[in-house]
Amino acid sequence: MKIGFFGVEEQQKEYFKIAFPKDKLYFCSDKLCIKNVTKFKNVDSISIFINSPVTESVINKLQNLKLITTRSTGFDHIDLNAAEKRKITVCNVPVYGENTVAEHAFALISCLSRRIPEALERTKKSFSPDGLRGFDLKDKTLGVIGTGNIGKNAIQIGKGFNMKVLAFDIYKDQKFAKQANFKYVTLEELLKKSDIITLHIPLNKHTFHLIDKKKISLMKRGTVLINTSRGPVIDTLAILPALKSGKLGGAGLDVLEEEAKLFRKVKFDQKTNKILKANLELIKMSNVLVTPHNAFNTKEAVRRIMETTVKNINGFKKGRKINVVKPFKKK
Ligand code: NAD
Repeated sequence: MKIGFFGVEEQQKEYFKIAFPKDKLYFCSDKLCIKNVTKFKNVDSISIFINSPVTESVINKLQNLKLITTRSTGFDHIDLNAAEKRKITVCNVPVYGENTVAEHAFALISCLSRRIPEALERTKKSFSPDGLRGFDLKDKTLGVIGTGNIGKNAIQIGKGFNMKVLAFDIYKDQKFAKQANFKYVTLEELLKKSDIITLHIPLNKHTFHLIDKKKISLMKRGTVLINTSRGPVIDTLAILPALKSGKLGGAGLDVLEEEAKLFRKVKFDQKTNKILKANLELIKMSNVLVTPHNAFNTKEAVRRIMETTVKNINGFKKGRKINVVKPFKKK
C-alpha cells in the first residue's frame, strides 16, 4: 500500500517504518490540506491528526484513496459523507485516552478550584495566600455531559474527589450508573444543579453550540465550565460575557472554536475574527485556563494511538476492518 502519514513526529516515523516494512510510506510533518494534497495524489491510504481537514475537495484530489485513519478519537475534521460517497473507509482510535483526557479535565478543574496559575504568579513576587481563596471539590455537584469512554472516567475521578455526580447523555448506560453510583438527569436539570460542568461529547450538527446563551442562563451563578471535547460545542461569544459578569465562575478550555486559526497572520471573515478576538480575551482572563488541545498528549496515550493506527491499517489490508466510523445518524 502507499500510505501517507501527516503531522507526524520523528519518533512516530520510526515506529511506522518498523510496523510497515513492505509498504511505500510518505511522511509529512505538516498537516494534509488542499495546498499540499497534490504532492500525495497517488496514496491509497492516509493517516492524519485532527489538524488535517479532510474536506470533499481534499478527498477528490486523492483518486486512489481507500482508507483514512485518524490518529484521534474525534473525526469531525473528516467529511464522512464525502468519504462514504467514494466508498472510502474511515477509522479512528476510539479508546486511547479515556483516562488521559479525563485526567486533563481534572487538572483544569483542580487548577481553577485552587487558583493554581494565580498562585504560581504570586510566588514569583511574594509568599502570601491573600486573595487566593479557592473552593473544595468535595460535596460539589459535577455535571458530566457525555458518558462515553472519557465521560465515564471523569465520573470515576469525580467520585474519587467525593463529588456528587449528575450526568446527561442521549444514550444512558444505567448499568454503569448503578455501579458508579450516579444519576442520569435531563440536560436542563444538570445545567441548573451542577457546580462544575464538564463536556465529553463529540462535535456534530446536534452538539454544535450545545452550550449557548440560553443554556448558560439556566446555570447557577458561578458555575465552572470545562471543555476538553471540541471548541464549537460551546458558543464562544456567549461564554465571554458570562465569564466577565461572574455568571460563569471560571472555564477550563482545552479546545477553542476556530483554534486552528489562532495566531495566524491571515485575513479571515468577520464572524471568524470576532471569535478569534474573543478567544484572545479568554486566554488572558484570570478565571479562564486555556490549554492548546493538549488533553490527549501523554507518552502512554500517544503510544496507544500509534498501536491502534497500525491495527487499523493492517485490519483494512487483511479485509478485517476495525474502528470504522460512519456519518452520524440519530438512532
Ligand atoms: P465516546 O464516543 O466514547 O463518548 C461520547 C458520548 O457522547 C457517547 O456516550 C454519546 O452517546 C454521547 N453523545 C453524543 N451526542 C450527544 C448529545 N447530543 N448529547 C449528549 N450526549 C451525546 O467518545 P469519548 O472517547 O468519550 O470522546 C468524547 C470526545 O472527546 C471526542 O468526540 C473528541 O471530540 C474529544 N476528545 C478530545 C481530546 C483532546 O485532546 N482534547 C482527546 C480525545 C477526545
